[in-house]
Parts: sequence; C-alpha cells; structure tokens
Amino acid sequence: MTDWNDEVDVLVAGSGGGLAGAYTAAREGLSVAVVEATEQFGGTTAYSGGGGMWFPCNPVLRRAGVDDSFEDALTYFRAVVGDRSPADLQETYVRGGARVIEYLESDDDFAFQMFPWPDYFGAAPKARTDGKRHIVPAPLPAAALGELATSVRGPLGTERLGEPQPEYLIGGRALVGRFLLALTKYPDVSLHLNSPLVELVTEAGRVVGAIVERDGERTAIRARKGVLLAAGGFEGNDALRQRFGVPGTARDTMGPWGNQGRAHEAGMAVGAATDLMDQAWWSPGMIHPDGRAAFALWFTGGIFVDRDGQRFVNESAPYDRLGRAIIERLDAGSMSLPYWMIYDDSAGPVPPVQASNVPMVDHEDYVRAGLRYSAATLPELAERIGVPAGALVETVNRFNDFADRGVDEDFGRGDEAYDRAFSEGASPLVPIRKGPFHAAAFGLSDLGTKGGLRTDTAARVLDESGAPIPGLYAAGNTMAAVSGTVYPGGGNPIGASVLFSHLAALDMVGR
Ligand SMILES: Cc1cc2nc3c(=O)[nH]c(=O)nc-3n(C[C@H](O)[C@H](O)[C@H](O)COP(=O)(O)OP(=O)(O)OC[C@H]3O[C@@H](n4cnc5c(N)ncnc54)[C@H](O)[C@@H]3O)c2cc1C
Repeated sequence: MTDWNDEVDVLVAGSGGGLAGAYTAAREGLSVAVVEATEQFGGTTAYSGGGGMWFPCNPVLRRAGVDDSFEDALTYFRAVVGDRSPADLQETYVRGGARVIEYLESDDDFAFQMFPWPDYFGAAPKARTDGKRHIVPAPLPAAALGELATSVRGPLGTERLGEPQPEYLIGGRALVGRFLLALTKYPDVSLHLNSPLVELVTEAGRVVGAIVERDGERTAIRARKGVLLAAGGFEGNDALRQRFGVPGTARDTMGPWGNQGRAHEAGMAVGAATDLMDQAWWSPGMIHPDGRAAFALWFTGGIFVDRDGQRFVNESAPYDRLGRAIIERLDAGSMSLPYWMIYDDSAGPVPPVQASNVPMVDHEDYVRAGLRYSAATLPELAERIGVPAGALVETVNRFNDFADRGVDEDFGRGDEAYDRAFSEGASPLVPIRKGPFHAAAFGLSDLGTKGGLRTDTAARVLDESGAPIPGLYAAGNTMAAVSGTVYPGGGNPIGASVLFSHLAALDMVGR
C-alpha cells in the first residue's frame, strides 16, 4: 500500500490547457492539486500570442451574428481529418467547444473576443473562409494577478531575449492568467511549480494517484476521483522524438523545456494505448542567431527555394501545411536545411515576416551568423547561398510572371482564403524585382507534438483493448490529437486542450 503524502479529489499534471480541468473540478466542488513540472505556469499555451480557440458556434460568435452550424463545422472537420481520429471524438470536439465557452463566460473571470482566422483547408467542404470559428481570450492586466503574474510563462520575447514583462497579458497568457485568477478563489485548490508527475500509482487496475517530484523528493499524491495528464507533448525530448519518428529537433521546437513526455511515459507504463506518436503541429522556422528555428508566419512577400533554387510550396499556406511540405521534401532527399526565403529590397533587408513569434533581433546579427545574405543581383545572391544561379533566376522570373498575372500556376498561392488573410484579400504574390536581393535561412519548427494517449469522448485514457483505464484522463498534446494528421484550423491545439480537460473534470465530478 502506498504511503500518501497528500490527498485530493483531482490531480492535474500540467498547467496549460489543463487549467481548464482544474478550474472545472474546483468550481464543481472538488479539491484539486495542479502540479507543474517547470518554474512557471502556462506551458506552450502561454507562448501563444493569440490563445485562439477553434470552437464553432460558440456564444461569442453567436452574439456576433455568425450564421454557422455544428453540422457544417463537423462536415468540414470530418472532411479534413478523415478517419485518422475516432468519429465520436471529432464530434465531441466540434460540438463541445461552444458549451465550454458558455460555462466559462458564466464566471466574470473569463471574457473572449471573436478573432476571424480562416480555416486551414479553404477548399474543403464547409470551410469557414471568413474565419468565424475562432475566438481569443480578452487581455488581462498583469496587476489583476498580483504576485502570480510573474509565474506565468512567456512571452517569448521576455523568456528568450530578456524583454521587459508587458503590463497586459494577451493571448494564451491571458487565458492562463484568467484560469489562475479564477482558481485562487477556490480554497481547495493548490498550485505547485517545479513538481513533475513522474509515475502513476495503480491499485487493482485503477489509477489512484501519482508520484510527483518536489525539490528532488518523491511525493505520493492520492487522487480520489482521478488524474488528468495535460502535460503537453514530448517535443523537448530528442530521444522520444527519435523513438517515435518525429521529424525535427528539440532545439527547434516552440514547446517549453518541460515538455519532455514524462506524462506520456507514465501513461504508457500503466497500459495506455497511444496513437499519432510521429505527429506534431508543424511550421516553417526562421533561424535566429541563437541557432534555433522558430515558428514564423504571416509572410508579406518572398518565396522559399530549396537547394536547387526551386520553389517547392505555396509559401502563404497555413504553417502546418508548409511544415508537412518541408518534411516531404526532406524525406525524399530533395531538400536540406536550411532552405531560403528569397525577397527583394521593397521593405529593406529584413525578411517580410510579420509574425516571427520569437522577436527578431538586429539584422546584422543574422548576417554575422550566416543566416542572411544580400547581393546586387540574383546570380550573386545564388552564389552566396550555394544554389544554382540559373535556376534561381529562372524561378524568380517565373514567379514574377505569376505575380503579374495574379495566378500561381505551380503551387496555387493565393487560391485559398488563408493565403490572402494577411494581405486583406489581395493577392499574396509580390514580385521580386527591386535590388538588392536578399536571402534568409529557414528550418523546420513545430508548436509541439500531438501524438499521445488514446482517449474516449470523456477524455478517459484507453488501454490497448479500448477499455478506459479507471481514474486516468488525458487532454491537449498528451492525448492522441482529435485532429489526427492535419491542423484543421487555428485554435485546434488550445481548443482541444481546454475542452478535453474540462470534459475530464466533468467526468470525474460525475463519478
Ligand atoms: C507562438 C505559438 C502560438 C500558438 N498559437 C496558438 C493558438 O493561437 N491557438 C492554438 O490552439 N494553438 C496555438 N499554438 C499551439 C498551442 O499553444 C499548443 O499546442 C497548446 O498550447 C498545447 O497545450 P497543452 O495544454 O497540451 O500543453 P502546454 O500548454 O504545453 O502545457 C503543458 C504543461 O505541462 C507541463 N508538464 C510537462 N510534463 C509534466 C509532468 N510530467 N508533470 C507536470 N507538468 C508537466 C509543462 O511544463 C507545461 O507547462 C501556438 C503555439 C506557439 C508556440
């Protein structure tokens, strides 16, 4: 028998979307302990500048008069995800988000805003090309959180570059901050930093608690109702990435350092079935002088070329689709890293990347690090970056011709709504003509892995036979993603983490 050091109804491992589970359990009258592996709350969720959630037909959208339906949203989701995740899980996700927002909005600590963000497969049936399935949390003044404010992870500029803490929490930080604020109002909630869950404790096939390391000591916490693993992905663990065949590296992931897959391992050790373990939320990564490729989006110009000086993708496509195109090329051996963004001098030597997530530092630092080159002519630029000059000139000429005609015959750049989201509907094809010409180095980044423990629609973890493991729940990037091998729309990762954490807590309440 275990010697318990602590006892609660619900134990939550991870403080990103998992806070939705902690909050729900507390609000429904259960005692809760949140254990967070690192020195700050929030995980990758707190890195998100948007904190967007893809929750069709939710009350925020309904109030704004959006004429969507769950059926349409489900048609879209099913069309793009296919059978790579269970149909009932997909339906739960698509229909469930609206209810969770209703639940949160009935507490004054929460507020959300519509933030149109086109679905990522604009040509799929019932895609919402006006982006009205996406909401973000309202900003929160840091002062509202008092001392807790410095315990919220991020933003990336503060963490990686030492920029000052902003006075407002926005995006994912606002979401995390709002959950923390709400949680402090419940007496039976304890929040623990530097406390990784390392092992699950079972009795007669049921998960009854967990071992958590605190200050290097093993602490046994009994969880009467259950344990929720919402500990993110294993993107920060190169050994696990290799074991499961996840392209890319821990160096180039956006996940915070604590996302090492220990909760995945704890789940597998008690018999949890897994799925999608080679999958991540991908993106192109701008390589910064610290040597790390970081998730970048919102390109207002430029083209990507491979080592043959050829374009290989619609550069304005959603980042996960870009990432998958890069992986395909790498797998086929027709590309090596870095590849290059080629752009002209219309906006100066800094690449036309409007959202680098990790703020760009001084241009000269990139030049010194061999990550940016400039030249008066394209052939000279080609020589500097080691691609065939004739091919690069031909590629740019062909692209300029497409730009002049407003049609990308090779990769369809501009064909879908998302491609035009950052140019106010105008063509994203911007000719490359004004010298000097520039090249910026890019790699492969990811927003985290998305393979994990298989769950049912109540977020109960399943064993290999498909039966729930009593007392064990998973959500977010610790669960096998409801979105399978695609990224249907901005707001899926955080949405799935918040919703399935919430549903896990409700299930525990009911038991
Ligand atoms: C710049 C950026 C912008 C993004 N924008 C969006 C967006 O707008 N919308 C969207 O949906 N997605 C977005 N994403 C992706 C999204 O942020 C993540 O996929 C999502 O937040 C993951 O949530 P999670 O709860 O699964 O994990 P996380 O938020 O990563 O939280 C996991 C937490 O668990 C902790 N942990 C790990 N192991 C243990 C353990 N053993 N015990 C205890 N704690 C542990 C970690 O330290 C971490 O704090 C963005 C990502 C980035 C990088």
